[in-house]
Amino acid sequence: MENKRVYGIDVGGTTVKIGLFEDGKLLRKWSVPTDISDGGKNIVPDIAASLPGPADGAAMAVPGAVLPDGTVNRCVNLGWGVCRPAETFAALTGIPCRVLNDANAAALGEQRQGGGQGYENVLFVALGTGVGAGVVLDGKVRAGAHGAAGEIGHLCLEPEDAQAKCTCGLTGCLETYCSATGIVRLAALAGRPGMSCKAVFDAAAAGDGAMEAVVDRSCDLLGRGLASACALIDPEAVVLGGGVALAGEFFRAKVQAAFRRYAFHACAATPIRQASLGSDAGFIGSALYAMEPGR
Ligand SMILES: [Zn+2]
Repeated sequence: MENKRVYGIDVGGTTVKIGLFEDGKLLRKWSVPTDISDGGKNIVPDIAASLPGPADGAAMAVPGAVLPDGTVNRCVNLGWGVCRPAETFAALTGIPCRVLNDANAAALGEQRQGGGQGYENVLFVALGTGVGAGVVLDGKVRAGAHGAAGEIGHLCLEPEDAQAKCTCGLTGCLETYCSATGIVRLAALAGRPGMSCKAVFDAAAAGDGAMEAVVDRSCDLLGRGLASACALIDPEAVVLGGGVALAGEFFRAKVQAAFRRYAFHACAATPIRQASLGSDAGFIGSALYAMEPGR
């Protein structure tokens, strides 16, 4: 391993999670608040100031598209426009740094050490406020030409559904039905405004027919989206993470069943698995990315 001592960094909209790893082992982890004032210009200096010492390398996961040359193409949640945060980090710390998308980092973490362990080809989907995703093929994160590989949150599934306006500007994206926000939206449309996503799942699991219909619609559309994704990249496993996946086996089994309804027969047996690293997946995956020899 080229880089023995590395920092794995996951920059989120409210906190930055950081882990220090030596020879692949986590020595310590901590977090710093994300200061989004002034266009987020303090974020990287705050991270740099929190580091306990030198290292051989680092990688930073960010909530936005990352181009192959490390240019970040906007992180709305951080206030960042087009920028090169790895260069800023390296200039402040002297530590070489790579940058990658946060869902891609989580995908690598889950593939190596979490719900995708044992598989070299994994599609990871994070169902939270939005829907992020990452593709690991042959053990490597594949970010794509524009940093958008795997972004199934914006598969346009219901373009005629005028109520399903997506943050990306399209209508009827998978994210508008399958994110926590989307499930809350569907519950409100079903006459139950103000319910949390967890409350919707709890009610559905307890036999509330209206809420089960909401969950079933969401899982059906997710299964359809995953079937399209698997027809394209044919992973060995799909791993579901993020807050929505905390609904557990009740949710996973419905998604697996929906997936089988729509999947091409050759890949219909692909397992749909639960993520297991929780919110640590991003900084763990970043560290793994930093440890990979030169790219
Ligand atoms: Zn969209």
